[in-house]
Parts: sequence; C-alpha cells; structure tokens
Amino acid sequence: MVLSDLGRKLNAALSSLNRIPVVDEKVLDTLLKEVCAALLESDINVKLVSQLRQKVRTKVKAAFESGGEKVKEANRKNIVQKAVFDELVNLVDPGIDPYKPKKGYSNVIMAVGLQGNGKTTTCTKLAVHYQKRGFKSSIVCADTFRAGAFDQTRQSATKAKVAYFGSYTETDPVTIAAQGVAKFKKEKFEVIIVDTSGRHKQESELFEEMRQIGNAGQAAEAQSRAFKESADFGAIIVTKMDGHAKGGGAISAVAATKTPIIFLGTGEHLTDLDRFSPQPFISKLLGLGDVQGLMEHMQDLATQNPDRQKEMAKKLEEGKLSIRDWREQIQNVMNLGPISKIASMIPGLPQDLLQGSDEEGALRMKRMIYITDSMSSEELDSDGSLFMEFAKDGKPIGLTWRVSRVARGSGTTVREVEELLCQYRMMANMAKQAGGKNGWLQAMQKVQ
Ligand code: GDP
Repeated sequence: MVLSDLGRKLNAALSSLNRIPVVDEKVLDTLLKEVCAALLESDINVKLVSQLRQKVRTKVKAAFESGGEKVKEANRKNIVQKAVFDELVNLVDPGIDPYKPKKGYSNVIMAVGLQGNGKTTTCTKLAVHYQKRGFKSSIVCADTFRAGAFDQTRQSATKAKVAYFGSYTETDPVTIAAQGVAKFKKEKFEVIIVDTSGRHKQESELFEEMRQIGNAGQAAEAQSRAFKESADFGAIIVTKMDGHAKGGGAISAVAATKTPIIFLGTGEHLTDLDRFSPQPFISKLLGLGDVQGLMEHMQDLATQNPDRQKEMAKKLEEGKLSIRDWREQIQNVMNLGPISKIASMIPGLPQDLLQGSDEEGALRMKRMIYITDSMSSEELDSDGSLFMEFAKDGKPIGLTWRVSRVARGSGTTVREVEELLCQYRMMANMAKQAGGKNGWLQAMQKVQ
C-alpha cells in the first residue's frame, strides 16, 4: 500500500471515533485493529506494529483510569486519537538529532546505500538543497565500481551548477575521496558530498572501503561527527517516495537502526527532496497538514517579500492569524507549484483537495478564494468568530446571518462556507500549537 493510501486509512479509522457515542475498550480494539492492519499492509515490521498497539492500549488505559469517572466522552476520543498519533510519530522518531552541516566549516557527508536506489541522484539533490541555503556545495564521485558513475555525477552536477570531483583513471575510491575532500576543503567548500559505490551491505570489502573513506575526512571536527564510526551511518534519506513505494520498510528501518530520516526523495528532478521530521510527516500523512514543511516552501516567497513574511510568522507564532492572512497563504501556495504536493501541507485543507488531478485541486482552492472574496474587510480581519453565535457561557451555538450572505455572494452553499470556517479554525489552532517557543518563526530561521 502506498503512503497516501495508508494516510487515508489511518485518517478514516481515527475520524470514525467522532461518530461513535461511547468510546470503550471494544471501540479501542476495533480502531487498533484497523490501524494495525493498515500499517502491516504498508510493510511496516510486525513487531513494531504490535508494540504500537500495546503502547497505545497502555497509554489510553492509564489516561482513562487516572481521570476516573470524570473523563468525558469527548476527552476519551481525544485521548485515543492523541495516543495513536503520538505512537505513529514515535515509529519514525528515533529520538536522535540528525547531523546538520554548520556554516563556515567543511562538512563532509558520505552517501552509502544499495546500488540503483538513487544515491547519485540524491547526492546532487542534497548539494542543490544546501547550495540554495547558502552553503558552498560540492560532490566527490568515489564510485569506481560502476562504469559511467563519474559521467553521471558530472552531468547532473553541471546541470545543478555544483562543483564536482572525480577521476576516469584512478581505480581506488579511497584515493579519489581523499583527493576530492582535500581539494574542496582547501577551496573552502562548506558541504562536500562523497558518493560511494554502495554495493550490497554485507560485502565486507565495501565496509572496509567505507571505513577508509571515513578516515580520510576525520581531521575536521565537523566531519568526524558525520562519519561517526566506520559504516555507521548517521542519517537516512529515503528515496523514491513518489510513485508506488510502500514506504513502510523505510519506516521500520528507523526503528531497526535508531537512525533518523532526514530527507525524502520524491521524484527524479533535482528539487524533489523534502526535509523530513517525524511529527509533520505523520501530521501530513493523516491529512492534518505540515506547518513546518509549508513554512520551508514559504521561504522562497520570503525572499521576495521579507517584511510581510516576517509579519506573518509573528502572527502565526502568536496565534493571531486572520482569515485574510490565511487567504493570502492559500494564494501564495497556488503560486508555488503542484497543488497536490503543497496542499497536503496546509492544515485544515480537506483531504479531497488532494484527490483527482492538479487542475481539479486548483479549482477547489479557487472556490475557497471566492468564498473569502465575498467577505467584508471586518470579517477577513477577524478570527472567524463574527460568523458564530455564542451562548452566554461562550459556547458556540450556531451561525450568524453572515454565513448565508457570504454563501449567496460567492455562489456557494452555507455548508461550503461553514466548512471553510471550520478548516480555518483548525489551521489557526495548529499554528498556535506550533507557535510559542518552538514555533514557526524559529523553524523558519533554523532552515538552512
Ligand atoms: P544509484 O545507483 O544508487 O546511484 O542510483 P541513481 O542515482 O543512478 O538512480 C537510479 C534511478 O532512480 C535513476 O533513474 C533516478 O532518476 C531514479 N531516482 C532517484 N531518486 C528518485 C526518486 O526519489 N524518485 C524517483 N521516481 N526516481 C528516483
């Protein structure tokens, strides 16, 4: 099962709770059965799945019992949903901070992996990624095993305007790696990516080769961190996550090796590389959006209008994003490229937006813009509460006349307007949660 199917199944299982009046042990069992079946279908290791089931059960039980009779039904649902969410995050989070290149140093990164998995392509993608973020980047082709490897590096590096080093005559990969690293260090390159032949994992010769290549770069403090021990890789990049990849095997690899995933390869183009972090990944998988990922994309826009983006980030951090701001984000996103890719990052956007073609997705997004076009200035600058009627105790009890006016004005239905408001609220809440100390602003500043 591909990941988007897994996400849909998990989402369906978790949302089904909202329709069930009483959450008891039987309901929990049924839910866990559905969740686990979906995970297994995606090739996630059986042991991990059964551990997840056990942990969710224990967590939920403890939470229910600690609250005694007082745990209200709505809270019980939240407890179950949160426990599943957290355990899914734990599945892809080894709890280790991955190595991050530092500015002003020569950071050496060695790529290892099975042949044909996209290593050479990924090396260039990685170089492009860092180059875009201001690191002077380079690639060393130390793959002397595969004929044509250096040509491939040369071609893609030239296309990407990244410096490269390799040899048609030298047959010893260690020598090439040492020469390349030394050359680029001398030239003050900040990211030096060494591409190796990466044959089968169990080939001891390869291990030895990697160990020696590793030694070649141990002089610098930053490098030794990257190399850790011989052949002990510090981070994982999962390639070919587009198309029909199951992805579950990769998720299992995190747990097996206790090594963090740092990027996902999502296509053959040089920009098809997405940063990976556990919580946003699960959030996006479940159709809850990926605030952090979205922010990274927004960075491109930030360079065009830095003041406005700073203002926006501040509002987000303070949880003060108005409907108008949200509309601006949607419009920005529409200019950013394939809707299907970007839309899955926006919290609160309906899942069906991601289905169908990109044109259909764009149309649906346009409809959301039409709805906001029919709102008054006061409404756009609000947090949506103008559309709600509240009881004396502050509980929302219905919608105001404004909703039907907007529906009429935009040629949509009351239901559609209501849905949009609901999505906006969800987004605003997510942003608020993501805000504070570890908020977007910081996430944005941290992005290199
Ligand atoms: P290597 O042998 O590990 O160096 O693999 P290559 O970099 O030569 O890649 C093998 C094939 O996989 C090439 O056709 C690449 O275009 C393709 N490829 C690499 N990464 C991705 C990816 O993320 N998605 C898709 N669809 N194809 C990829």
